[in-house]
Amino acid sequence: MSDARIPEDIPMAAADVRLDQASRRRERAAISLLVILVLALLGITPVANHALAHSGILLPAYATAVLMCDVVTAVLLFSLFSVHAWPPLHILAMGYLFAGLTMAPWTLSFPEIAAELGFSAPGLQSTAWFGALRRLAFPAFVLAYAIMKRSADTADHRDPSRLRLIWTCTAAAVLAAASATWLIFTNADSLPRFMVDERHVAALWQYVPMASVLLCLAAMGWLWSGKRHRLDIWVMVALATWLVEIILLAYVSGGTRFTVGWWAGRLCGLASSSVVLVALLADTAALHARLARALTAERRAREARVSSLEALSASVAHEVNQPVASMITNANAGLRWLERNPPELDETRAALQRIVHDGDRIGRIIRGIRAVFDRGENRRHAIDPNRLVEDCMAEWRRDAHRAGISVELQLDPIAPKVWANPVQFQQVVTNLISNAIQAMQIEHQGPKTLRVSTDRDAAGDLRIVVQDSGPGVPAEVGDRVFEPFYTTKQGGMGMGLMFCRAVVEAHGGRLSVSDVTPRGARFEFTIPAQDLPEADERGRS
Ligand code: ADP
Repeated sequence: MSDARIPEDIPMAAADVRLDQASRRRERAAISLLVILVLALLGITPVANHALAHSGILLPAYATAVLMCDVVTAVLLFSLFSVHAWPPLHILAMGYLFAGLTMAPWTLSFPEIAAELGFSAPGLQSTAWFGALRRLAFPAFVLAYAIMKRSADTADHRDPSRLRLIWTCTAAAVLAAASATWLIFTNADSLPRFMVDERHVAALWQYVPMASVLLCLAAMGWLWSGKRHRLDIWVMVALATWLVEIILLAYVSGGTRFTVGWWAGRLCGLASSSVVLVALLADTAALHARLARALTAERRAREARVSSLEALSASVAHEVNQPVASMITNANAGLRWLERNPPELDETRAALQRIVHDGDRIGRIIRGIRAVFDRGENRRHAIDPNRLVEDCMAEWRRDAHRAGISVELQLDPIAPKVWANPVQFQQVVTNLISNAIQAMQIEHQGPKTLRVSTDRDAAGDLRIVVQDSGPGVPAEVGDRVFEPFYTTKQGGMGMGLMFCRAVVEAHGGRLSVSDVTPRGARFEFTIPAQDLPEADERGRS
């Protein structure tokens, strides 16, 4: 029987359904913790029966700590359930809540504590009965969680009944704990005998730890055999610590209260109650840190976007105004040529041609801007960069040959495939190659070489370099080549590199330019390597 599909976004419960490396580390940490516990258990065994004095403060302090841990764990699990709507979580939360609530009457039923608080204990059997309730209920709830986990359907985030379910479960747990308390307190003397006196257990008691151990082992086995995730690992550690507690309380210390073994068992009980709580808190803290980092990055990106948008709109206004003004001048001139007698048709035709040329330029500017803002996320595929670079180069080889440029392709077979929009990716490489060829055609001395390489950078991402032996980009110009409308070419648009950078950044990468000695420019960009689906792999569109 396999696990049903678990919602992918439950941080604690399902973020790493496939046990990734971090989960394996967590499993190793959990196993080391258990080894330490078993060693401690062995170390305590020889002195386990040594009687210690009953401390008036220690027992209520212990019970309060366990109660708080259990209740806070339940609250965190319920809040996870309210967000992720994954049904097994509320069963586990109920288990923690019920187990936690039984701690209050358990403590109050101790004759010593009842006496200190000024009322008489409800009877010799009540403490053991509350203990039994906790011992059996918690592993039973965990077993129910483990069983439900396998058949639970995918979370339904639109289900509006989640809050109602949380309140129903909370009320049910509180009601069950209150009813049990009332029943045990009022019938303490007629309950089957678990204790022979205030310190020693009766033979009947032995069935309780035995049943608890069996429930624990069943729950652990069920969790271990299915698909495990982060939460399960820590629930299993809680159960294992719980087992050690039972062994210490029931077997090593022979059920005698206030011995070294008994107190060590209580310590294990506290550890068992806090394991999942600590794990949940650590996860929540990590989540908050990630969220804060993401928000800061998002704010910075938004600010950068706003300022580059301002720069872009100013440049667009400047670039478009000029052809529009020239179109108006030419149109007025055309009208004047037509009003002449006879009309100057040749001059009018020339004015109209200039208008067409300016209109065409505005059209190209608008197409360029649209291309920059098209992130093309819906059209991404797994791309083999080497094939794509070869295809791009094939289109330019003849021009390069005609211009006397020797082309060197250095395509590393370990260059990673990337998830990208093939059309945009190809336009970026093509732009860089055509710029390099054009740069080497202008007053060039010495050998002309175009080198295009692919490889994997230190971070394991794809790196593509287009390097030429042209005049290079002067240091004082530097990054300005990526600004909109920066051009040194006659009839240039100055939008190519802006487009390249926008595309590379939309793919999560970086594009930069540097100078080459003795001469030339080197444009380098990276695209993050990701785990790619095997299907749908292409070198180009
Ligand atoms: P355009 O090609 O229309 O000028 P680009 O944005 O592609 O627009 O290029 C902007 C400017 O960057 C170019 O005009 C040129 O001055 C400079 N440039 C681009 N590539 C190179 C290169 N390989 N070598 C030297 N300068 C370059």
